[in-house]
Amino acid sequence: MIRIPCPFCGERDHSEFSYGGDGSIQYPPLDASVEAWHDAVFLRENICGVQVETWQHAQGCRMWLRVTRDTMTHEIHGVEPAHPGLAKALGVSK
Ligand SMILES: [Zn+2]
Repeated sequence: MIRIPCPFCGERDHSEFSYGGDGSIQYPPLDASVEAWHDAVFLRENICGVQVETWQHAQGCRMWLRVTRDTMTHEIHGVEPAHPGLAKALGVSK
């Protein structure tokens, strides 16, 4: 079982969250080539270890989070709002 400490709601079971995918992807500019977009959208690393992921607290605050998780142990190393500016506007310190 994975427990994710949502910065807005506190620690919750991962079943309340929806997995959003690799959080480390840097998307190309809108006018980049089709090949660059293909690579950004479809090519993924299958990381065995610590990776940054996006998760949405779909059954809670509905906020998107950046979660640093070990894919081998499911240990959570860090959680932060995916959109810090929005978190700041909402008065959340993280
Ligand atoms: Zn939440």
